[in-house]
Amino acid sequence: MRAFYGPDQALHDPLQFMRYGRLVAPKDLPERTERLLGALSARGVAPEAPAAHGAAPALAVHTPSYIEFLSTIWERWAQLPDHGPEVWPNTFPYWSGRPEDAARPPCPAEGIVGQVGWYLGDLSVPMGPHTWTSTLRSCETAVSAADAVAQGEGAAYALCRPSGHHARADRASGFCYVNNTAVAAQRLRGRFDRVAILDVDAHHGDGAQQIFYNRRDVLTVSVHADPATYYPFFTGYVGETGHGAGEGFNLNIPLPHGSGGDAMLAAVDAASRRIGDFRAQALVVALGFDAHRLDPIGVLKLEAEDFAGVGAQVRALDLPTLIVQEGGYAIEAIGDCLAAFLEGFDRR
Ligand SMILES: [Zn+2]
Repeated sequence: MRAFYGPDQALHDPLQFMRYGRLVAPKDLPERTERLLGALSARGVAPEAPAAHGAAPALAVHTPSYIEFLSTIWERWAQLPDHGPEVWPNTFPYWSGRPEDAARPPCPAEGIVGQVGWYLGDLSVPMGPHTWTSTLRSCETAVSAADAVAQGEGAAYALCRPSGHHARADRASGFCYVNNTAVAAQRLRGRFDRVAILDVDAHHGDGAQQIFYNRRDVLTVSVHADPATYYPFFTGYVGETGHGAGEGFNLNIPLPHGSGGDAMLAAVDAASRRIGDFRAQALVVALGFDAHRLDPIGVLKLEAEDFAGVGAQVRALDLPTLIVQEGGYAIEAIGDCLAAFLEGFDRR
């Protein structure tokens, strides 16, 4: 399997994360990429550097004002007197909570504090001096892997970091800035009429859901821990089935906290049936490993070997498949999770 990764993706090195009213150590550590690269290396897979696609592919699913913000905010922030070490919001606009709400207009405020509050949706997306560089490179990794699949590769793996699936059309959140999975699915639409996204990260893929919520050409399916008491809290419920032309083309499968491999496999089985009914021509897997029982912010109880079963189920769909790395923060376990997934995927 071809794999893609750009070393600049490791430059993003967040310093701060808010949890239960306290500043705590960040969870999206650069070391995550080393563990995932190690798993690839053990399989004899040498990742290729992505091509320089620039921001154009991201602009196919994100608003111009949002990408402008992401790509310029550090330089503006660095000119503030007595600024902190990272761009971090301290105000948040009202959000209706309606899942069918599409992207907002550009931020009406001209000042930095207002714009930071508009575009950075929570306190888990600080932006340091290298965040945009890593984000753009992560997106380019997804795009290059998508192009490989579009050009006939049966499967490709994009080692994306930062992750993407929480990024909305106009808002960063949940360690995510640009929605690599959504960008890749949109890219594949240039080659395939119907593309399905299967998200097995422990968190609901709220960004991808929002981006495609009104569309029927990209089916979004997410298996995740029940959001009633887990991030992203406000979406991920079974009643969210799409809107307008997209009605019926979003499927959420929340799992009770404490669920293990059997529950995940049953959910992916149900997801697979929906993807089959959709007659998808290509598949994007948003692959997170934070369902592992050791994940420091996890609530599910999968073992690394359980991801082999998920990999086998994905392979059984028999579609051109792009695998996009999302979350997973148990440094000691995520390499084993990727190894297991790929082993299951490659098993005949
Ligand atoms: Zn996650």
